[in-house]
Amino acid sequence: MAQKTIVIVGGGFAGVACGNRLRSKLSAQEARIVVFNDENYMVFQPLLAEVAGSSILPEVPATPLRVAMPGVECRRERVCDVHLAESKLFYESVEGFKREFPYDHIVIACGSGMNLSAVPGMADHAFPFRTIADAVALRAQISQQLECAAVTDDAERRKYFLTFAVIGGGFSGVEVAGEINDLLKAAGRYYPSIHPGDAKVILIHSRDQLLPEVSPSLREFTRRKMEKHGVQIVLEKRVKLVTAEGVTLSDGTQYRAATVVGTTGTAPHSFVERMNAAKEKGRLKCDPDMRVEGISNAWAIGDCAVIINAFDNQPSQPTGQLAERQGKQCAANIVAVLRGQATKPFYFRPLGMLCSIGGHNAVAEILGFKVSGFVAWWLWRSVYLMKLPSISRKVKVAMDWTWELLFSRDIAGIKIDTANRIHDAYFAAGTYVFKKGDPATDFYVIEKGEVEVMREIEEGKGPETVAVFGSGDFFGEMALIEDRPRNASVRARTDVEATVIGKGMFARMSKVIAPLAQQVNSAIRRRTALRTRLPKSTAILKETTMREVLEPLPSQPLSENTSFVMAVGHFEKDHADFFCVVDDKAHLVGVLTRTDLLNATEQLALLPPEQRGELKVCNIMAKNPLWVTEEDSPLLVAEMMRERSLKRLPVVYSSEDMRIAGYVRLEALMALVLRKLNQ
Ligand SMILES: Cc1cc2nc3c(=O)[nH]c(=O)nc-3n(C[C@H](O)[C@H](O)[C@H](O)COP(=O)(O)OP(=O)(O)OC[C@H]3O[C@@H](n4cnc5c(N)ncnc54)[C@H](O)[C@@H]3O)c2cc1C
Repeated sequence: MAQKTIVIVGGGFAGVACGNRLRSKLSAQEARIVVFNDENYMVFQPLLAEVAGSSILPEVPATPLRVAMPGVECRRERVCDVHLAESKLFYESVEGFKREFPYDHIVIACGSGMNLSAVPGMADHAFPFRTIADAVALRAQISQQLECAAVTDDAERRKYFLTFAVIGGGFSGVEVAGEINDLLKAAGRYYPSIHPGDAKVILIHSRDQLLPEVSPSLREFTRRKMEKHGVQIVLEKRVKLVTAEGVTLSDGTQYRAATVVGTTGTAPHSFVERMNAAKEKGRLKCDPDMRVEGISNAWAIGDCAVIINAFDNQPSQPTGQLAERQGKQCAANIVAVLRGQATKPFYFRPLGMLCSIGGHNAVAEILGFKVSGFVAWWLWRSVYLMKLPSISRKVKVAMDWTWELLFSRDIAGIKIDTANRIHDAYFAAGTYVFKKGDPATDFYVIEKGEVEVMREIEEGKGPETVAVFGSGDFFGEMALIEDRPRNASVRARTDVEATVIGKGMFARMSKVIAPLAQQVNSAIRRRTALRTRLPKSTAILKETTMREVLEPLPSQPLSENTSFVMAVGHFEKDHADFFCVVDDKAHLVGVLTRTDLLNATEQLALLPPEQRGELKVCNIMAKNPLWVTEEDSPLLVAEMMRERSLKRLPVVYSSEDMRIAGYVRLEALMALVLRKLNQ
């Protein structure tokens, strides 16, 4: 038989088992076996929670693939596309080039990725929990929160620092909640200023019981044991929003928590999404023998595949145990195909389930026998020790576990350097981005939504809104440059998505990117100018009410679904410069100008004639325009127009009722100021 090339994409539970079984069955002359994995190690995910909880060292769940798969060619390169029809895969080479790799058989074993974007703010504020880097980051965060809590004098803030909300009550959620709880308890003796009641771990799960993978009696045991150890379990509640302040549930309950861990939300890897093959909820649909449906030389195993287990005719659960078994049987089926023999459908009687739940407790269901508590925990450790893929890893884990039994957990934590970080943030309407007096740590760029800057202008009169910023605007620069605490508060007027740039990174960027430095400097000049340089105009505008400057819109707003051609007709008929655009609730969603029409003409020219009618106003308008409410002052309007060089601003009834009340023109504002100056 001529040498065949068998490629495995993914060196996890499924890929490693498949590669090793293939190597043991096929000689080097018969097959070249290549595994592509984006790391050079296999991650033993059931041990990740132990890394976060400081029970084992971070590198321990990672076994080098070259050690785990002797005789298999290991390539640390990311696969970016698979073209099944041409039997070729494309990968990003170590030098960064896109290269192709032909194969005779391919096994897709890439597991699943995480998608935290299902809940607003989760991707921005929650710690994901899937990789070693995630576990290390969480461990550092726990340590950082302990240090912050230990030195604060504010009892409320101490509780906030020490509250950990874990979203998802499956394997990873339960394991990580148990481990965080254990670490907080073990660390308590080194932090005398922290009281036992200050720390709290909240586990939030949308179903009525934890751990859907185990039998109901063990689920109940898990809940009782975890609650006994102090973990607060919240069942049948969905998380609706995650912010820097904590989580909000679907029933409106809020938990203030400095740390949120997201363990729900799987998503297919992008190359699987692009693959031209049958899928179910993003996973590759397979024939009973694990071939990708209808493709004779492509196979899929593990979490990325939908495989019916002939044992119970049910789709296999996404667990390490099943992934490993599928890997072994897939290898046997490939060998059968190469030798012209018949393949077998996937059949495996699951041996059971094990899950550690904290406090030296676990739940286990092995061959129908249910065990819980300390014995199950001992079993859990023994089984996973056996399952670790290399002797050196087994010894390392055994040593770490023994150490942890004899001595206390390691509370040293690597400090996360937030000053040089860029990250996304989500602020719900009404919440503060920062308050007056807060230390200046970040610079903000708004991607979506509006914030208001609130400052106390006259003593004793409370803060008033002095500026509003919308998408594309930035704020937070003055206190950073002047190296002082915030002298104003910034609050989200709507839900806001922002990019947050740490102090150190901001300093560097504004030093090396000249246009940014210019923008920031001119913003500082603009933002301080109106009130200080034009005190008379400021006083007049302050006394003026919005009603005095509010005018009806010159033309009826357009619907966002109006076609481009119709929109051109409206501009021509009304001799308008701009149109406000509204959705089906008559809420303001955009502004369309003559310039937008001009730009869209290019877009239209590129479309085939039959599709030109499909170009709509919502595709070409400026989305998320700045607006003010009837309650805002004309002084604020003037500041906003000055800041953004605007000639007009739409006015809505309120931030909840976004129907358009009218608009304010710059000329009208100026005329009013001149009139009053001359009186
Ligand atoms: C925190 C946590 C705890 C868990 N606990 C348990 C437990 O106690 N018991 C249990 O049975 N299961 C548990 N699971 C589930 C179990 O880990 C998975 O079911 C199992 O890992 C699936 O194996 P797999 O081979 O399909 O994917 P994985 O093990 O995820 O391996 C996929 C590999 O493919 C690589 N890869 C992905 N995309 C590409 C690409 N484009 N190019 C190259 N390489 C790529 C990845 O880096 C990865 O190494 C847990 C999972 C997590 C996240």
